Formats: sequence, structure tokens, C-alpha cells
Amino acid sequence: MSEPLLRVTNLTKHFPVLGGLLSREIGRVHAVDGVSFAVNRGETLGLVGESGCGKSTTGRCILRLIEPTSGEIVFDGQDVLGLGGNDLRALRRKMQLVFQDPFASLNPRMTVGAILGEAFTIHKLASSAGERDDRVASLLVKVGLKGEHMRRYPHEFSGGQRQRIVIARALAVEPELIVCDEPVSALDVSIQAQVINLLEDLQSELNLTYLFVAHDLSVVEHISDRVAVMYLGRIVELAKASDLYRNPQHPYTQALLSAVPVPDPKAKRKRIRLRGDVPSPMNPPKGCHFHTRCPKAEPRCQQTAPELKQGSDGHLVACHLA
Ligand code: SF4
Repeated sequence: MSEPLLRVTNLTKHFPVLGGLLSREIGRVHAVDGVSFAVNRGETLGLVGESGCGKSTTGRCILRLIEPTSGEIVFDGQDVLGLGGNDLRALRRKMQLVFQDPFASLNPRMTVGAILGEAFTIHKLASSAGERDDRVASLLVKVGLKGEHMRRYPHEFSGGQRQRIVIARALAVEPELIVCDEPVSALDVSIQAQVINLLEDLQSELNLTYLFVAHDLSVVEHISDRVAVMYLGRIVELAKASDLYRNPQHPYTQALLSAVPVPDPKAKRKRIRLRGDVPSPMNPPKGCHFHTRCPKAEPRCQQTAPELKQGSDGHLVACHLA
């Protein structure tokens, strides 16, 4: 088996919390707490969990938009955390981010042509203004828009079209990995499917690799080859998408999946309602982070954190009962 394009080992990100008159550190938010996974070339790994579970922070650490507290990130054989200056800039070209809110990430005062052309200029990917415009036009066509749209401003487009522009901007520098951070959460359900289909088409055409971050298991089901479920900074289950949806083994995944609507009413799942809210990541529970809400918790769950253990067919679960 070839080396994965991306390997993340024991990634940790703690944010200091400052307080008091002297702004001293009074605590730490354990946003990411020892996360490990790998993504193969051309694969989509879905990273799913409730808001605040650390999934977006994980994506941003990989891109070095946030500096991790500790851990190792290897991309295409390079130690990402050991890079600086020109090497880091060169690596960033290969790893792009598509944000949740396309409106916030597009400069309203720039035409779409200027927004997309900027990437070609910064990375010296076009030798003349004419070549740059040609490449912008062909990028727009690639994402399902028209070349003439380059003269318009972001507010002249619908939410779905704006997200296509954001995807085009990410593609401009010919990346290998795209971190898609809730790319369809702000869109209507009917538009979500169109954008996901576009991402799938682009993946097969350009052999892209995706880390697809979402809070909803139903969104990642069709696009993901494998899915990792996060809870309070840790991965609690990671498996092939088909295995995870057919046979979820962690009580948290089971609860999340029970809330996903199924098209066949006879196959309806019994809804598992979790008690309470997600505890504060500033003070996560001892032992298994999920024990305060787990319907199957046992006394040992309060003391000992379960390891992420491998079962059959590479299915990883962090639960004492698995
Ligand atoms: Fe629930 Fe215990 Fe398993 Fe954690 S280790 S998920 S608390 S049964």
C-alpha cells in the first residue's frame, strides 16, 4: 500500500484562557486532544462532530493557519510543522481551504476575475494578463459558471454560486489536498447536493484529496470514503463510510446516526436522545470524555479513557464496550 498523502499523529491544540487583572492564564481549552489519522491520495475523509468538538481546529492546524501545541503532520513526505518561509509557502499551495461562509471569504469590492486572478499573480502562474484571464475563465467553467462571470461582483451571485467561486479560487493553485470546512452548511438543502456533486466530479477529474469537515453525518455520507467521528477533541470512531453507517459501534456515533432521517420508513432507526450538553472543552470529563452523556456508561468509564482500538476491517472505536 502506498504512503498516505497526509498523516496526522497525536495532534494536540490547547488554547490558553486568560483572565484577571494581569491577564494571566487561568485555564486551557482542550480543542484537539491527541488526534491521529491518515488520508490516502484521491480519498475523502469525513471529519464529523458537534460544534466545538475540534474538527475545524484540526483542519486549520493541518494548514498551519493555527499552530498546534504538539503532534506531527506529514504531507506528501514532508514534516509540515518543521517548515518555514518559502518551503511553507510552497506547501500551502498544495493544501487549500474552502470555508463555510462563501460571502465572508470573498472580498465584496473585487470582481470575481480579480479575486481568482490574484492567486495566479501571487504564485506567478500566468505570464500575461491575457493568459491570466483565460485561466480565470476556464476555472469558472470548470466549477459550472460562465467565463463572462469574471466581470461581476460576489453580491451578484447566489449562495451556491459563491461557493463555486470559492472552490474555483482553491483550485487556481492546483492543490493536492482541499480541507472543506463545512462547505455546504450555509446553503439550502437542494443546493448542498449540487455543490457536493461538483466536489465529487472535480475530485475524479483532478485526483484531489479531501478532508471534509461537517457537523452532520448525513452531509458526508455520500462523499466520504471513510468517516472519523470526533467528540470533545478526540476521535471516537473511524471506519469506512459504508461500515460506519451500517454498523456504528460507538454510542456517540449511534446517537448521531439515530437523528439522521432515512428514506425508507420501514428502516427507521430508534432515536437515541443524549442527556445534557457537551461539557466545556476547558474542563473535559476525566476518563472517557463521553461518559457524562453516554447511555451505556459504566463506572470504569469515569476513570479510564478508552483507547482507539482497531476491530475488523480497519474499523477503529474508542469505547470500553467495543
Ligand atoms: Fe460510553 Fe463508556 Fe464507551 Fe465511553 S467508554 S462510550 S462512556 S460505554
